[in-house]
Amino acid sequence: MNNIVIGAGISGLSFGYFSKKPFIIFEKENTVGGLCKSVKDTGFTFDYSGHFIHIKDKKIKSLIEKLIGKKLLTVKRNSVILFDNKLIPFPFQANLYYLTEQQKQQCIKGIKNRKKIKIFDDMPFIDWAKAMFGDGITKYFMQPYNQKLWNCNLKKLTAAWTAPFVPKPTQKSILDSAYKRNEQKYGYNSIFYYPPANGCQEMIDGFYKKLKSNIIKNTKVETIDLKNKKIYANGKYYFYDNIISTQPLKELLLSIKNLPKNISTLIKKLEYTSTRCVNLGIKYKKDLPKMIKNIHWIYVPEKMYPFYRVGIYSNVSKKLAPKNCYSLYVEMSDTKNCDDIIPILKKTGLMNNDDEVVSLNVIDMKYAYIIFNKERTKVLDKIFKFLKDNNIYCTGRYGGWEYSFIEKNIADGKKLAVYLNKSK
Ligand SMILES: Cc1cc2nc3c(=O)[nH]c(=O)nc-3n(C[C@H](O)[C@H](O)[C@H](O)COP(=O)(O)OP(=O)(O)OC[C@H]3O[C@@H](n4cnc5c(N)ncnc54)[C@H](O)[C@@H]3O)c2cc1C
Repeated sequence: MNNIVIGAGISGLSFGYFSKKPFIIFEKENTVGGLCKSVKDTGFTFDYSGHFIHIKDKKIKSLIEKLIGKKLLTVKRNSVILFDNKLIPFPFQANLYYLTEQQKQQCIKGIKNRKKIKIFDDMPFIDWAKAMFGDGITKYFMQPYNQKLWNCNLKKLTAAWTAPFVPKPTQKSILDSAYKRNEQKYGYNSIFYYPPANGCQEMIDGFYKKLKSNIIKNTKVETIDLKNKKIYANGKYYFYDNIISTQPLKELLLSIKNLPKNISTLIKKLEYTSTRCVNLGIKYKKDLPKMIKNIHWIYVPEKMYPFYRVGIYSNVSKKLAPKNCYSLYVEMSDTKNCDDIIPILKKTGLMNNDDEVVSLNVIDMKYAYIIFNKERTKVLDKIFKFLKDNNIYCTGRYGGWEYSFIEKNIADGKKLAVYLNKSK
């Protein structure tokens, strides 16, 4: 049995870790980890924007702790929304208390007058948001924030991605939140975990130590010949029994020779959005900016800011920044107006005026969020069936063309390995 894995991100590494059959992982970069890598610079450790580990399955937490040989940090999320020049607790829909009377009344009216319509996964996202939260909350948060994040015509985005990412408080909690502060924590990541010393990379290093001898770096899988069951990479052919692909599905399909027309015509339906992460290492003169003290990340829905989210790595783990310093990640999908974000950060209070940027790096993630268009489920069913019939199994956030996260990637890698362990 010869299993070839494409990609040594967390999905490929998890598959390898649980695989009992011979396998080899080809990784096109000279470092492993994919989007879970970290960057070290001038004493700072940055991730590819916030990569915090939210886990429901205790076994996955134990596995990571075993691999890194230490306990993960446990962090109580403190995330907020920058709205109307102030910070309000996340999620917007459960914290109407902080709005002006006029904004509050619009949100209350909106939720009370919601149309009672049937809610389903593939309905347009904006219709879903209005049906769940009403016109006011949709106008102030759901529409503008998601417009910035997805950077596409929102009419084509369905609601299929929203569980478990968008908290859904009851109508009563939403209305109550207009009159008294809501202390309840919402969402899948209200508690999250993080490696204690070396960024997200520490988890990757744990896997890598075990799998080193199975990984060939600097090797991009360029073409796949289904008929002869061989791939072409780094100037050589390699024969396979199964391919486990974690590379973006769109690129996998484009690398297959003589792809049948009924499949190749589906490629254009695979849409995605890209994200830029600007990492900043900053030395402060006196203290951390008041506005960001104890905060982990800030959602930024308003159009006047070019970024949609800003996070403070060094508030998650002090080890990520040197003494008298702090570190930020600034995320944006639309990079047209992002030339000079530092004056905007200063003007907003996210940086002090006299603080000095001592490290700056820009990470462009070509594949960041898969666009959940209405054709997605049907298209994926057809593509995955065709690939499976040809012994190609896709997993991971971009391999599986989904909105997934580290815990799911590890679980799915394991599931696929267990399945192939049983095959002859
Ligand atoms: C902005 C952003 C923030 C996120 N925040 C979080 C978070 O806080 N918590 C969380 O749990 N998740 C988060 N995620 C999701 C997380 O990054 C992914 O779920 C995870 O990294 C996916 O891992 P993967 O192995 O499936 O894919 P990838 O990390 O993309 O790995 C795929 C690997 O395949 C390699 N490759 C591609 N093509 C080829 C080829 N042809 N030949 C050889 N190698 C190839 C790539 O170089 C890469 O190493 C975030 C994602 C984004 C975009």
